[in-house]
Amino acid sequence: MDEIIRAVTSDGFIKISAISGRGIVEHARQIHDLSPVASAALGRTLCACSILGDLLKEEDATVTLRLNGSGPIGTVIAVSDSTGNVRGYVQEPHIDLPLKANGKLDVGGAVGKNGTLTVSRDLGLKEPYIGSTALVSGEVAEDLTYYFVESEQVGAACGLGVLVDTDLSIKCAGGFIVALLPGAPASLIETVEANIAKMGQVTDILKDGTAEDLINRVLAGLEPEILAQKSVEYHCYCSRERVSSALESIGSEALEEIAESGDDAEINCHFCNKTYTFTPDEIRAISTRSE
Ligand SMILES: [Zn+2]
Repeated sequence: MDEIIRAVTSDGFIKISAISGRGIVEHARQIHDLSPVASAALGRTLCACSILGDLLKEEDATVTLRLNGSGPIGTVIAVSDSTGNVRGYVQEPHIDLPLKANGKLDVGGAVGKNGTLTVSRDLGLKEPYIGSTALVSGEVAEDLTYYFVESEQVGAACGLGVLVDTDLSIKCAGGFIVALLPGAPASLIETVEANIAKMGQVTDILKDGTAEDLINRVLAGLEPEILAQKSVEYHCYCSRERVSSALESIGSEALEEIAESGDDAEINCHFCNKTYTFTPDEIRAISTRSE
């Protein structure tokens, strides 16, 4: 079961969220037929997005994480609701790249670093709150850390990882985002930095461990108190009704044109790969509604 755990140090200066998201990433792999490097790139982004979603306070809010690095994978997108349930896709799910010299999947090479990381929070107001920074490496965690510091002025660190098994299924996935509140003493920051430096890869811990183990490693010696623990999953909200109203918005003229062709219209949901089929008569009915 995938879960997010939120914790805080007893002095209140450090907040952390950690996720174990193997199921989310495996689900994404299956519906999108992701290659290993695409599993890693989208998986890291999904896990981070789920953490950011869980931190939203407004019930109907969503957060979108978008990486546009001009690399061969194209755009990487993840969207989370305020419960941390998440969905996403990459433009080129079958991309294959040689492993890096250290034997790791080349996520940075797939994503590229000639572009931006954008975080968009839709809080149900007129306009979403959008922040964006240049990509540092395309490895996702490093880019997010840079984003928090530069765009949101929050001292933060982020670790993310996806381990792909020999049969290409996901062995483990997850990560953490730790934020330092203003006024945190320097010694505290040093402790966290030292903990992160010696804890090794996120996947080394999640292989046999949990999100709580991640927290205990990042905040070792700082007495973390768990604030919340909840299960999260891959969840798409598409439905025939939603697709119909999206069609409605393209206008009656365009819809009549589609209906005239005499063929069924097939609309594919990018997030869950489900296909919705509309007959010419159904398209005409939608067209009437849009007038
Ligand atoms: Zn869908």
